[in-house]
Amino acid sequence: MARTGTCLCGEVRYRVDGEIGPPVACHCQYCRRGHGAPFSLVALVLRSQFVWLEGEEHVRRFDTPGGGRREFCSLCGTRFFNGPRIAPESISLVLASFDEEWTQAPVAHVNVETKAPWHIIADEAPQYPRLPRLPFDPDSEPSDSRD
Ligand SMILES: [Zn+2]
Ligand SMILES: [Zn+2]
Repeated sequence: MARTGTCLCGEVRYRVDGEIGPPVACHCQYCRRGHGAPFSLVALVLRSQFVWLEGEEHVRRFDTPGGGRREFCSLCGTRFFNGPRIAPESISLVLASFDEEWTQAPVAHVNVETKAPWHIIADEAPQYPRLPRLPFDPDSEPSDSRD
């Protein structure tokens, strides 16, 4: 199933085809600072299934200190995805930019060792201190990556 997404200013549009991984709430310090929010809701998709439809010239890329790469609209600041260092064939898509509202609650919380101190996680989804290995497997050992 294809989904499309748009940034806040509307200049950049994308489409993603195929399977979208389970939604995960990331509480890392980069997501918190970059999104101005207590966490970001993301899901893994294959990079090869993501295409820019319009406005790619406005997309800027930022390499995080953790070795990941973030791509965002330079006009309005909307985040599209993060390229995790430990899974270069995948991207961690920011679900807030979908045109159709995402409805599924997170299946896991990751990087909770750096979550906002005031933020209380109120659901029953499992919590991981850091980022489990990718592709996301709730039974896997956590890696050292925080991005
Ligand atoms: Zn924009
Ligand atoms: Zn994060």
